[in-house]
Amino acid sequence: MTTDFAVHPHPAPLSDAEREQILADPGFGDHFTDHMVSIDWTRDADGAGGAGGSWHEARIEPFGPIQMSPAAAVLHYAQEIFEGLKAYRHEDGSVWTFRPQANAARLNQSARRLALPELPEEMFLESLRLLVSTDQAWVPSGDGQALYLRPFMYASESFLGVRPSRQVAYKVIASPAGNYFGGELKPVSIWVSRDYARAGHGGTGAAKCGGNYAASLAPQLQAAAHGCDQVLFLDPTRDNAVEELGGMNVFFVFRDGRIVTPALTGTILEGVTRRSVIRLAQDRGLDVQERTITLDEWREGVASGEITEVFACGTAAVITPIGRLFDGEDVIESAGGSDVTLDIRRELLELQTGRGEDRHGWLYRLA
Ligand SMILES: *Cc1c(COP(=O)(O)O)cnc(C)c1O
Repeated sequence: MTTDFAVHPHPAPLSDAEREQILADPGFGDHFTDHMVSIDWTRDADGAGGAGGSWHEARIEPFGPIQMSPAAAVLHYAQEIFEGLKAYRHEDGSVWTFRPQANAARLNQSARRLALPELPEEMFLESLRLLVSTDQAWVPSGDGQALYLRPFMYASESFLGVRPSRQVAYKVIASPAGNYFGGELKPVSIWVSRDYARAGHGGTGAAKCGGNYAASLAPQLQAAAHGCDQVLFLDPTRDNAVEELGGMNVFFVFRDGRIVTPALTGTILEGVTRRSVIRLAQDRGLDVQERTITLDEWREGVASGEITEVFACGTAAVITPIGRLFDGEDVIESAGGSDVTLDIRRELLELQTGRGEDRHGWLYRLA
């Protein structure tokens, strides 16, 4: 199945000189390409309670403000989900992304949780190909640079009652990105949130929805007030089991070759990077365990020297070593960024940028 996208080119795209200036130092999430993809969904007139409906008016159009009613449901009840992927320019000039089928599947998993319509995988993939081929010139080629792709879907119906929206919009925007935490790779410091949890049992923790991020901002402010870069969320109902950071999964490297990452209990977002790291670690013969790991085990493991490295991973920052952990009283100081972390990071980046062998067929050509 292919979708017919109407093409509405930008009447006045940025000049080459202006674009090159942005690409020289793109930062993260500050600048956007000339176009965006939009597809609308409307529920069938007779779809009383179901999700029967259709996607229509697929188009590529100038990046710009969205017209919507002040009563649009998303503004009131946060019926919104999103994805995040990166497009890398390879040495021969072609542009590739990484395991987008996994993002398509996760978008639909999030959609089911938020009572939004599913988007066929092929439409998702085509929306990425179309945007990236149209705005190809925006894909940077510098070291560590990529074009960050942000597909998202939201309730656009003008209606204040509480029920799933009968009108939904799907869009993709793109933003050139440098290194997420800027400059060199230095271990991030982590604030352990005791006042707030990221997700509750039966909640939306396994869905990639904007509401989870809204809830993470107050603890993020606490982290900053304590001089920490990121927040670690625990599950206080399970002996302070480690969950994840606000937008990254965590891994523990043990001296004896074990690698532990928290199991997916429904309150953790399953990262594509997490899944890939598990595979790459297994390929190296490491014993990867998905299980509960508590804050106490972290503290004791670091103290005894059994845990040698801790790192976080996600599309935006790839793999980032975790250095200091602070919970208001205790400090746990991990080695942060030694052999295994940096090695897996290098392998993953080489793969994504086309310098490594794609033995699992994870690369997908966009342009
Ligand atoms: C997106 C996200 C991640 C990382 O997922 P990737 O697919 O690896 O980018 C981890 N945790 C949360 C809460 C996220 O939203």
